[in-house]
Amino acid sequence: MQEKKNNIIRTRFAPSPTGFLHIGGLRTALYSYLYAKKHNGAFLLRIEDTDQARNVQGAVDNLINTLNWAGITFDEGPGKEGSFGPYIQSQRLDLYKKYTEQLISEKHAYYCFCSSERLDQLRQKQIAQKLPPAYDRHCRNIDPIIALEKTKSEPFVVRMKVPLTGEITFNDLIRGKITIAYKNIDDQIILKSDGFPTYHLAVVVDDKLMEISHVIRGEEWLPSTPKHLLLYEYFGWHAPEFAHLPLLLNPDRSKLSKRQGDVAVEDYRKKGFLPEALVNFVALLGWNPGDEREIFSLNELVEAFSFAHVHKAGAVFDVTKLEWMNGLYLHKKTNTEILELIKLNIDPEFETKLSLLKHEQILILINLYKDKFKVLSDLAQIIITLDQAPSEYEANGLEQFVTPETCQYLTQLIEKLKATEWNLNDLTTMIKSLVKELNIKFPNMAQPIRLALTGTITSPGIYEMLVAFGKDESLNRLTTFLKFISNKN
Ligand code: GLU
Repeated sequence: MQEKKNNIIRTRFAPSPTGFLHIGGLRTALYSYLYAKKHNGAFLLRIEDTDQARNVQGAVDNLINTLNWAGITFDEGPGKEGSFGPYIQSQRLDLYKKYTEQLISEKHAYYCFCSSERLDQLRQKQIAQKLPPAYDRHCRNIDPIIALEKTKSEPFVVRMKVPLTGEITFNDLIRGKITIAYKNIDDQIILKSDGFPTYHLAVVVDDKLMEISHVIRGEEWLPSTPKHLLLYEYFGWHAPEFAHLPLLLNPDRSKLSKRQGDVAVEDYRKKGFLPEALVNFVALLGWNPGDEREIFSLNELVEAFSFAHVHKAGAVFDVTKLEWMNGLYLHKKTNTEILELIKLNIDPEFETKLSLLKHEQILILINLYKDKFKVLSDLAQIIITLDQAPSEYEANGLEQFVTPETCQYLTQLIEKLKATEWNLNDLTTMIKSLVKELNIKFPNMAQPIRLALTGTITSPGIYEMLVAFGKDESLNRLTTFLKFISNKN
């Protein structure tokens, strides 16, 4: 499905399929999407796979799935029925070849026959002389007719000609005016010996042919922009606007890296972060709405987004804030929605793998525990833990709340429980009156019950927990606990 709309604002996300979608990639995609949507524009996906050695199998599907999960969709592209797929650069090689030939014939580019040995030696020499490594333009002056003849028998690449003097100035929507001297720009390779274009040529040709109005990408691409502008000039094309987004940083302000935490969107998905929360959080990495608001749905982000409030300074990735935000979104979900999300994102077999707890009980436990956790995986884990009778009991709890009389209290409790109707009301009335009758403090009854049921003293309300486990299982766990403390005494 391919449908070119007459939009004025057109943006794209142009990842290379080299692995998982990075948090930084999600932000680039998100800002590009927001900007396009805000202006009734079109947003498209282009896979930049011209570096064959770096392509990873399955990466494209993963990218698309992850973006869909985040709610980011595309407006056009050669996709399958009913959906818009990505443009794929490796399927457009003829186009890049054609434009390279145009540049050669107009003397803006030239064939280069330098061997990798020669280029290595050159680099070593430059490093030894403390010069920045750059191509010495050895082949730039070969007569074009001789060069063309040589291409028939020798391997070659094509390089763009960069002026030797002068400078280039352009405007960045986030950084303002930027000037770079040509002497700092290498005669960049635009077509490789394998016939594939390099990123620089392909990105310019495609942004032009796809009528991209705004190129939105990470700051690491800023040094490439002068080369791209030069190519636009050589082709006689009007260049798009550029916006280079600030770096993402670890809390110690180093560049966001795997060493200090997860950087793949996939990892956050697997840990049970909700897409709404991750998208909201990522939107605020480098942008603010200009007021104090922090919680935004995707549609609200579309409304609020503008480059005027994107910062130049690097944005720190604060996972604690992400967790806080995820908690806010999680706590608004219904119990059934949460169970579905656990199955969707964490384990499709979640429910069937549990040996004791049945659907209704799982929902009760989700309800009891959901406010205590910020991510789905922790919530799922507590339910998995509660599915098994405790194999040990929290030492601190035993020490504080198990007295020589506890055996006697629990024996009475078990007897009474056997005769009690298993509902919140009857359980509450019975246990409260037993506590009164025994003339003990409430925690001396409640905490041993918690220990028996969960192994810990930090569970939600005991009546609710008894209801969640049901009569048989509750009595089993209490009896096992009673045996355990009787043996200890
Ligand atoms: N293929 C480049 C990347 O992997 C795209 C950079 C751009 O958006 O121009 O990020």
